[in-house]
Amino acid sequence: MNIHEYQAKQILRDYGVTVPTGTPAFTVDEAVEAARALGGDLWVVKAQIHAGGRGKAGGVKLARSLDEVRTHAEAILGMTLITPQTGVEGQLVRRLYIESGADIARELYLGIVVDRGSDAVVFMASTEGGMDIEEVAEHSPEKILHVAVDPLVGLTDFQGRDIAFALGLEGRTVFQAVKLLKALYQAFVEKDCSIAEINPLIVTKSGDLVALDAKINFDDNALFRHPDIEQLRDEAEEDAAELLAKKFGLSYVSLNGNIGCMVNGAGLAMATMDIIGHYGSEPANFLDVGGGADRQTVTEAFKIITADPKVKAIFINIFGGIMKCDVIAEGVVAAVQEVGLSVPLVVRLEGTNVQQGKDILANSPFDIVAADTMADGAQKVIALAGK
Ligand code: GDP
Ligand code: MN
Repeated sequence: MNIHEYQAKQILRDYGVTVPTGTPAFTVDEAVEAARALGGDLWVVKAQIHAGGRGKAGGVKLARSLDEVRTHAEAILGMTLITPQTGVEGQLVRRLYIESGADIARELYLGIVVDRGSDAVVFMASTEGGMDIEEVAEHSPEKILHVAVDPLVGLTDFQGRDIAFALGLEGRTVFQAVKLLKALYQAFVEKDCSIAEINPLIVTKSGDLVALDAKINFDDNALFRHPDIEQLRDEAEEDAAELLAKKFGLSYVSLNGNIGCMVNGAGLAMATMDIIGHYGSEPANFLDVGGGADRQTVTEAFKIITADPKVKAIFINIFGGIMKCDVIAEGVVAAVQEVGLSVPLVVRLEGTNVQQGKDILANSPFDIVAADTMADGAQKVIALAGK
């Protein structure tokens, strides 16, 4: 699960990380009022969306007067930001964050991830912070320092100092850095984060460290023990199809290809994606209707797939074990009846009562293509989807 920058900063603040003072705003008037209440003579008007790269897309603006705060708030609120992280359709800005502006001497990069390669939580740090870190990672990865943390010991002081020195920090800023890194590590572990990123972590002109941006992702499988984090969910930022799927107990992840998939069991779902890849195409989604799929789940799954404009053909690949093939076939026919069929549909059934299932599909009034094996089904659906 992903949260907004202002929510992430509140969590970091609770752990003792220095962040600028700020207030979220949902209207232009609230934004101006927030700036007035903050005081000072420099503010930052920041779009709040669940994606980075806002600065380059015009979603982060400095303001030197309340009139400028108003102008920027009017421009940013309601704009659709397209960044490398939003996808081509972009993301509508519904919330703003108004912060006191900071005097930046240097912009650094700091991130923490759960690294599967080293089976550890790993800090990443770079002197090349700011808006081009993706390019640094791609073209000069040696400029990013990696420090793995022993889960039993936690981040040690000397590791903290290593990172601080690598960032070129000096004097009291080094001590601030060690404190900040430890606070960040504690937040990361206690809140079951999967990614936490501060970019930029700035050194101010007076030599203080401040987290100017914050991005935190949480491990969905641990959310059950963090009701406070679940409260921060902003459904408007989440994929509508994925939310709907969750309501019906379907595991659904939207992908980039054009073959819509409906499968039962995560293993078969992955195998189906692989075989589509093997024959040279790409799935539009991962969709596991689960072991106990009934007529209603099949119908809801079908609605989700057909609502996706990327889908040029659908592949239903179901093994009838607990669920018998004839029941699944009836579910498929009922779903097509209710939702309609605007793209070709290939169905491969295997398991209990497979012949009855095939008969039901063959005798239905719809043009459903039967497949015997996964390979057969994958090749047929790819051919029908076209290029
Ligand atoms: P992102 O583009 O989505 O990562 O948004 P950020 O929060 O990182 O902001 C983008 C850039 O805006 C930063 O890298 C800074 O250069 C600039 N910026 C953000 N806040 C301030 C501030 O308080 N003062 C100044 N001078 N620049 C800021
Ligand atoms: Mn940033």
